[in-house]
Amino acid sequence: MNDSQKFLLDETRIPTAWYNIQSDLKEPLAPVLNPGTGQPIGPEDLAPLFPMALIQQEVSTERYIDIPDEVREIYRLWRPSPLFRARRLEKALDTPARIYYKYEGVSPAGSHKPNTAVAQAYYNKQEGITKLTTETGAGQWGSALSMACNFLGMECKVYMVRVSYNQKPYRRAMIETFGGQVVPSPSTETSAGRAILAKDPDCSGSLGIAISEAVEIAAGRPDTNYALGSVLNHVLLHQTVTGIEAMEQMTLAEDDVDVVVACTGGGSNFAGIAFPYIGRKLRGERDVQVIAVEPAACPTLTKGPFAYDFGDTAMMTPLMKMHTLGSSFVPPGFHAGGLRYHGMAPLVSHLVHTGDVTPTSVHQLEAFAAGVQFARTEGIIPAPEANHAVAGAIREAIRCKEEGTSRSILFNLCGHGHLDMQAYTDYFAGKLQDYEYPEAEISMALAGLPAVPK
Ligand SMILES: *Cc1c(COP(=O)(O)O)cnc(C)c1O
Repeated sequence: MNDSQKFLLDETRIPTAWYNIQSDLKEPLAPVLNPGTGQPIGPEDLAPLFPMALIQQEVSTERYIDIPDEVREIYRLWRPSPLFRARRLEKALDTPARIYYKYEGVSPAGSHKPNTAVAQAYYNKQEGITKLTTETGAGQWGSALSMACNFLGMECKVYMVRVSYNQKPYRRAMIETFGGQVVPSPSTETSAGRAILAKDPDCSGSLGIAISEAVEIAAGRPDTNYALGSVLNHVLLHQTVTGIEAMEQMTLAEDDVDVVVACTGGGSNFAGIAFPYIGRKLRGERDVQVIAVEPAACPTLTKGPFAYDFGDTAMMTPLMKMHTLGSSFVPPGFHAGGLRYHGMAPLVSHLVHTGDVTPTSVHQLEAFAAGVQFARTEGIIPAPEANHAVAGAIREAIRCKEEGTSRSILFNLCGHGHLDMQAYTDYFAGKLQDYEYPEAEISMALAGLPAVPK
């Protein structure tokens, strides 16, 4: 038995291909629809915003897609990321379970997001694009894309939700340090922003508005494209680099995985760690239990129907079939900015529907208690989003103790919390509260789901 706590691969072991779970699905994904006609959209509908290489990845059914050398070269700055066995946490929980975690907080932006940011910037540059626009809420995605654009010699413009722009000056400074430009949204630069400001000059902004601004600029300029940090198939594909590495590291650990746990906002860090394991199961090679942990205040997978909906609040995107709380749902102000999305990646939603993924939800007080216990045993302070995964893993470890079974649990520690310490301060001051599942508001938002032809 290997008794090391840390399992490292050298840089020659960075995966050479991403894993595409669409190749192993028993039934294909539901098509993405044009909201006007109700018909499936084609590549030409996406071409004003995305490069053809990414549009092809969106619909590809190849099992493996090569990672370009230039992308692997940048991945070398932080990949392969370490995999740890949480022996001190196991001891504190007095559990027979073996708990492992893959740590994505070692990336320059401090989360898993650069895994796709670098790939997206690369493919855009290949097709002659010189500038990317995007939105950011808490700032994780904006800082990852700004870093990626900087490495590839591209410009980056980030529409940052105004309330976060004012409350998160350090993420803003990170975006600027990497050379990106940050604009508080709503802004006067776009007609979408100007229309909102005309009605409400003090509007504090929302992700939906920021998406509308970023998309408007990208759609209107031939040298500019738009980049999204989660939800879409190609984003989830790029994140599988984490699960593929984890499989090799588990071999070094002379163990394998019985349960995979990750938090879900749009679904990308979850897909990254889980899809290679789910693929193995779908091919009949090895069974695995997979748990998606979401916040109880934004319970997309556990309470939302599997239905066609818009990806944004302004109802500008094509319709995707996914678990959704309705595109007008605004979750209460809990402390995990990255988990506040009304929808969920169609691929993750599909796998919940087929029973290959088990969703669960945790309240934020349980999540923060888990994060603090993790910090005090393992020494890493997780991002508030990642606390949900820690809480999910702890629940499984306690279940093992109660049942007297020894299972191996792997979770994705998708980011560190060094720029989110205000959330911890509020937690220690007793200012955090558990929000009840906002049933009335969700019913209202769901009543507005778009009608689609059968
Ligand atoms: C953005 C973010 C998330 C949520 O996005 P997913 O696509 O669900 O992974 C979770 N954790 C961290 C640290 C993030 O930055």
